[in-house]
Amino acid sequence: MHSSCREAIKKDIGVLGTFIAMYCAGKHAAKGKTVIRGVGKLAMYINPLAFELCDECAKLFLYAASKRLICPYNPKPACKDCQTHCYGEPHRSKIREIMRYSGMRMILRGSISYIRKFF
Ligand SMILES: [Zn+2]
Repeated sequence: MHSSCREAIKKDIGVLGTFIAMYCAGKHAAKGKTVIRGVGKLAMYINPLAFELCDECAKLFLYAASKRLICPYNPKPACKDCQTHCYGEPHRSKIREIMRYSGMRMILRGSISYIRKFF
């Protein structure tokens, strides 16, 4: 894999994890959380990030990260502009809910440049 491609994946998976972790911290405050570990190729992207998520969010994060890993486009278009709807339900609805939830919070904090790619 080309190294710039690897960097892009790393960045995108970091953004995904940040959104999901923000959502999980806000919505699932009462749930137990564990540090997320990836397996296989995902390990090198996910393990250094050490996001703490509940089981439900962990599954979604691993799903989303694995989809990003196999995204055939370089550069990756914004998901909403993409022809390939790679997320199946219910993951698609859930990730949109998370993007809205955490996206609003990031806009309020002024970190808007962070989120463009995923809206
Ligand atoms: Zn959660």
